[in-house]
Formats: sequence, C-alpha cells, structure tokens
Amino acid sequence: MTMPTPPGIGRRTLLGAALPALALGPFAARAQAPVPIADMHSHYGLINRTLRDSGLAEDLRAQRVALVAWSLPSDLRWIRATPSGIEQFREPEPGSLSSFFLQTMSRMRAYLAENGLKTVLTGADVDACIAGDAGVVLASEGTDFLEGRLDNLDKFRDLGLRHVQLVHYIRNPVGDFQTAPPSHGGLSELGKQLVQACNAKGMLVDLAHSPGPSLDQALAISKVPMVFSHGWVDRSEGSWSGAAGYLRRRLSLEQAKKIAAGGGVVGLWGFALGSPGPSRTPGRGNWTVSRGDTRGYARELANLIGWLGADHVAIGTDIEGVGSSWSVNDYSHVRKVVEALQDMKLPGSVVEKVAFANYARVLKTALAAGR
Ligand SMILES: [Zn+2]
Repeated sequence: MTMPTPPGIGRRTLLGAALPALALGPFAARAQAPVPIADMHSHYGLINRTLRDSGLAEDLRAQRVALVAWSLPSDLRWIRATPSGIEQFREPEPGSLSSFFLQTMSRMRAYLAENGLKTVLTGADVDACIAGDAGVVLASEGTDFLEGRLDNLDKFRDLGLRHVQLVHYIRNPVGDFQTAPPSHGGLSELGKQLVQACNAKGMLVDLAHSPGPSLDQALAISKVPMVFSHGWVDRSEGSWSGAAGYLRRRLSLEQAKKIAAGGGVVGLWGFALGSPGPSRTPGRGNWTVSRGDTRGYARELANLIGWLGADHVAIGTDIEGVGSSWSVNDYSHVRKVVEALQDMKLPGSVVEKVAFANYARVLKTALAAGR
C-alpha cells in the first residue's frame, strides 16, 4: 500500500522546497548530506548484542556509516574481565584459535551477505563506500588465529580479512602487548615477518595494544602507513603494571607522533569513566569522558587533532569492547560526536578527515600495496 500524495505536496513542491534550504548554509547542508562516518574499531553485534538481531546493518545505513572495521577478537574465548582490566584465563588447545576465528568469521560473512552490506576488499570498494555504500572491513583483534604460522594468513585473506591488529590480550608468538609483562622485546621475528606479509598482501596493519618497542620496530619495517585503531594519548606512556586497564592502554604523545610521522592514524576510542578526570590541561591529562558523553568524546578528538594534526586522528569507538564503560554504543551516538565536532566550528575539511577520510586514506594505501 502506498500513501496517497496530499494535495499541494507533489514532486515539484518537494524539489522546490529543497532549494531555499541549500541557501541557509552549513546547518542545512549538514541536515541534508551528513558527513560519512568511518569507525576503525567496532565489535558491534559480536560481544554484547546477538548478531542476528543486532541492528548493525540498519544502524550503519541510517547513520551514513561508510566504513567500519568490524573487529573479531581472536582470543575472545580465552580472556575474561577482572576488576582491573582484561586477562587471559586459560590456554588454547592447539587448533582452537584458528577454528574459533574461522567459524565466527563465517557467521560475520553470512550476516553481511544476508543484509547486503559491502565487504571492503579493494580501493575501489573504499571509494564506493565514501560515495554512498555502507562498507564493512573485516578486521582481526590479535593474530592468534595464525597459530604461529605465517602461511595461515592467506586462508583468512581469501575470506576477506583486510585489517590486522597484531596482538590483543593473550600470550602469543607475535609480540608483546600493553597489558602484560613483555617477553619478546617488542615484536618477535614472526611478528616482524607478519608486518612485511601484511604489506605484501595488501592488509592494513593495526598497532593497537602494542607497546612502544613494537611500534618502533613496525614503523621501521612497514612500507605503508599503519593505524593504532583504538586507545588514547597522554603525555606519558602506559605501563603493563598500571592500576587500571585503560591506563595501561595509553600511548605517549611521542609514540603517537611517530605513528603520525609515518603517515599513520591514531584512533581515539569511545571509552568512558564513571568518574572522569578533570578538564583537559596540557601536560596534566586525564581521560575526561563520562558515560554517554558524546560531547566529551568530541572534545578529546579535538584535543588530539591539536596534538597530532587533522591528518592523523580518527574515530575507533571500540563499541561492545568497553563493556558498560561507553560514551557511544551505536552509530546514532557516533553521529552526535561528529555533530559536536561540527558545532565546535572546526573547518569542514578537518571534520571530514577525522570522521572518515583518514581511515579511508590509510586503508586504500595498504590495500593498494598488496601484490
Ligand atoms: Zn582493544
């Protein structure tokens, strides 16, 4: 059944009504053509929601999300939350890491197919998503699925994996991670070869959860820019012995600047604290975002833009990855963050870079570098 067109609201009237709105300037333009959104790190439908009825596809389309790195934690079944953070609580059986990742990725691929979402595999796919499609970049959080064997990478690339975060929360043969005592001195030999392999196969390297020595080593090896998809930046570096998980997960400004100098991008997460720190004072930073505080998230993004430059900051929400400690938990919330950036009177080009273009740029570069 189709609603009858009321008298006087014909096609011509609707078109005519749109024209004066354009003359109203940025506000009207914003209402009519929302800036695309890219999220460098999201677990939407994978941890807290049930995938089938998560509403992910509808949310992506409704909020004009062009690109989402849909990240499957490769160690999900082997970690647990504790009062001070997340830790490994059991050893994986041989083969179980690979089969878990394979099975869950198959479910993710089925969801994309059922909902007609584009799987981003090429630079042309990135362009199509910026132009209007909703695209999903299949991403891993950790490379435990390799089971220590580089030659297992092709199987997952063939399934569409294009965004590879090297480490997460469990002991692994690839490299150290921010939340546990180091044992590799950064990346292992395998980890260094993995960076090269990702370059060669056109897969984006994600340094999130990697400590300083791994960042330096990866930056020396990689032929293309990389991302640190989610986390935050302060004057000083976090330590594995930090009092809380979020403190361990912080980059120093110096480290973040190195990633930027390599052409890369640092994603700021949507983490929130029940009792956030004081307002941002340079040199005395605390994470200042409280639960549901989309304006606070935007304020932290603006601060990081000031520190790193507009070409090197992006959104990496970590939706469903931060438990109940979220400032954003769906893409209507992320839309509010982008609108808050616009309300800060940042230049439109700056908002666009942070909202989607920076991730699109590094992703396209990594994809194009593959043989
Ligand atoms: Zn993470």
